[in-house]
Amino acid sequence: MNDGIVVIAQHGENRADPLTYESLACAWSLCGGDAERIRVIVPGDRSRTVAREIAAASGFAVTSVESDVLTTYNADAYLRVLGPLLERTAPGYVILPHTCIGYDLAPALAVKLGAACITGVEAAVSGNERTGFVRTVSAGKLSAEVVPETATAVLTIQPGAWQPLDIKPGSAGAVDTVRIEAGTGRSRTTGFKQAEYQGSALADSTVIVAAGRGIGTQGNLALIHDVARLFPRSAIGCSRAVCDAGWLGYAHQVGMTGATVAPKLYFAIGISGAVQHVAGIRDAQMVIAINNDPSARIFARADVGIVEDLTRFIPVLMEEYDRQQGTTTGTEEIREPRAQENSPPPGPVKR
Ligand SMILES: Cc1cc2nc3c(=O)[nH]c(=O)nc-3n(C[C@H](O)[C@H](O)[C@H](O)COP(=O)(O)OP(=O)(O)OC[C@H]3O[C@@H](n4cnc5c(N)ncnc54)[C@H](O)[C@@H]3O)c2cc1C
Repeated sequence: MNDGIVVIAQHGENRADPLTYESLACAWSLCGGDAERIRVIVPGDRSRTVAREIAAASGFAVTSVESDVLTTYNADAYLRVLGPLLERTAPGYVILPHTCIGYDLAPALAVKLGAACITGVEAAVSGNERTGFVRTVSAGKLSAEVVPETATAVLTIQPGAWQPLDIKPGSAGAVDTVRIEAGTGRSRTTGFKQAEYQGSALADSTVIVAAGRGIGTQGNLALIHDVARLFPRSAIGCSRAVCDAGWLGYAHQVGMTGATVAPKLYFAIGISGAVQHVAGIRDAQMVIAINNDPSARIFARADVGIVEDLTRFIPVLMEEYDRQQGTTTGTEEIREPRAQENSPPPGPVKR
């Protein structure tokens, strides 16, 4: 395995993405604190400001790699600019955050470099000869340890797996700039459009009832609304699988690429508990999970775990609730829960 480590920074609005500092922390641990072995690359059309920020915060050498084709992210353009540069450098590891950019670019870079590609890395394990990398597989049910067999390995680092680098260097690292003419490629990105905001009141709610793919059909969202109506100041959340299926808008998504929430009570219903989802509920005070698979990863995060088919459990729960309240069910209109000011703390409310 080669000696050097290259970290490809991600950034926006002239600031480094905080996940870049988690990738730097991974690099720092892999080289045993030998800053000489680390080089940070900051790709962009004008990336010097970010390069200087990272050099000052880390003390590592940083190269601002600038090209007109790097105005917005495009895998083809990044590959044409970074590929030849990395081929010349031949590092042992190329490290990126496991984001939409990271997991789009990493496999293509690995092919270009003839390197191993290990995505979603959650930990590094020192072996006798080679370092192994832990990643989850089978929707979080298993952890695999993967050892690269090539001179170079491209890694994407799962958000939250390493704490952001915090080493307070004595002096800033050296910064240099490389300008590359990359010509015309096979595709180019013309711009980004902000997704339409649909409003989900997740941030203001003290109780969030979240649906996962385990609800089976969009129609079963009615069960989720039934539970939400038990609480004032409640909102409907969901996993990305539910958004991808088109059952709810992305404004409801909780997790790494959705909302980070901190309700007093979070219901995870039919949600497996993938790390990307759990990253969004770290600050929830109490988590109740309903899942028919006793080995579901969500139970590791849950304070209360219910191993049951949700389509059987929720109707029984509602029946029992109504029996205790002495009221009847089924007449209330299903509506989007809205945050209400000055409403009482969470707890069942009379329907
Ligand atoms: C870069 C990246 C970012 C991501 N960001 C996010 C994010 O922000 N948020 C997010 O949620 N995901 C995110 N994901 C996706 C994430 O990895 C998972 O794929 C996703 O969270 C799975 O959603 P799920 O738990 O609903 O579905 P599944 O993993 O399919 O789980 C469904 C669960 O329902 C259970 N189930 C099935 N039927 C029933 C039943 N009848 N009763 C009870 N339980 C039942 C199953 O046992 C299973 O545990 C991201 C992935 C990547 C790669």
